[in-house]
Amino acid sequence: MRVRVWVFVLGLLIFNLLRLMASLMPRILVTNDDGIHSAGIIALAEALDSLGEVLVVAPAHEMSAASHSLTLTRPLRIEKIDDRHFSVDGTPTDCVTLAMNHLLKDDLPAIVVSGINKGGNLGDDVTYSGTVAGALEASIYGLPGIAMSLVQRTNFDFTQAAEFACELVRRVLGAGLPRGTLLNVNVPPGPIRGVQVTRQGTKILRPTIIEGTDPRQRKYYWIGEESLTWNEEEGTDYEALRHGVVSITPLKNDLTDYRALEEFKQRDWDIVLETQSK
Ligand code: MN
Repeated sequence: MRVRVWVFVLGLLIFNLLRLMASLMPRILVTNDDGIHSAGIIALAEALDSLGEVLVVAPAHEMSAASHSLTLTRPLRIEKIDDRHFSVDGTPTDCVTLAMNHLLKDDLPAIVVSGINKGGNLGDDVTYSGTVAGALEASIYGLPGIAMSLVQRTNFDFTQAAEFACELVRRVLGAGLPRGTLLNVNVPPGPIRGVQVTRQGTKILRPTIIEGTDPRQRKYYWIGEESLTWNEEEGTDYEALRHGVVSITPLKNDLTDYRALEEFKQRDWDIVLETQSK
């Protein structure tokens, strides 16, 4: 009888200890814009598994260059793949929105990590990026957000980028990020040779429009890009990649141009009043 009581007490103790350990493991929301089946998100989720409870909520299909768009003109469907994987037939922002307000609303994540994207998100491209938007949406909820991209065009090997993501997430979970800040991280292929904290660069892009004719003899136009000239100014994300090191750019959703703000305040805006008085 006494033995039974002890076994019961011990069992209860172990049960509560396990529950406590589970509650100490942070929830990590993982999303991307290449789609839930992309090798980049699979490598990322696997790497982060040692840090906490990883939940993947990602687009069912590729949504690259979806930017920060939210789907409002049609309903969204969530497909539960297993307890930790959910696909959404929408954008990365749709995914984070559904995760924060529906799927994970009773036990919110501590951090959102987006990626690992197939290809860089550097300079002006940041504004088109669905990968960055996933982390940006997190920052709007006051959560730390990290966008991860592998700067490579073919033969993607996410091993080192995933290991780097794990180490970075561990540090951000420990030290936090300023509220509203997200990190845009671009990793060169191969071994990690160093890290540079950078500002967003600009690119002189040359879009090429591929013109063709569809099977029904209608013309179509496909936006491509060609012979890009990088702006490799000192301190930019492009420069870090040129040196073969990881670029970490802190970003904010606040797009205000603070340098222009004061100058614009000094200008004469009476024209606005004149228009109103008519
Ligand atoms: Mn992508």
